[in-house]
Amino acid sequence: MNTTSSSRRSFFKKAFATMAVVPFMGEAFAKACVAAAAPVGKKVLKLTDKAAKRLKYVLDATMSKHKKYKQGAICGNCKFYKLKKEASGHAPCSMMGNKYVTTCGWCKSYRLDKKKV
Ligand code: SF4
Repeated sequence: MNTTSSSRRSFFKKAFATMAVVPFMGEAFAKACVAAAAPVGKKVLKLTDKAAKRLKYVLDATMSKHKKYKQGAICGNCKFYKLKKEASGHAPCSMMGNKYVTTCGWCKSYRLDKKKV
């Protein structure tokens, strides 16, 4: 085998691999959660609150390093997120003393609510 045919094959392998990955990257970016400013006049959970620390709450779910975190899990599709009271991308969470959490957040008490997906 000569080097030209080997490098050509290598080029096509990389090209096809890139073509296979790019559509999924676009999908991931499209689904990225965008955090809004905290609602004025509501009790918003702080990262320094005891419950937040105990449950490993993060403002951006994708930043969680917790072993229970799974891609796509966010407060916004958690059963404890009170969607009916949502204001400015935040809603009360019953696991956090009904303080407002961001829809993009996550904690280790997360439970998927299939109705919110
Ligand atoms: S229990 Fe659910 S809604 Fe509440 S902070 Fe945790 S992941 Fe978010």
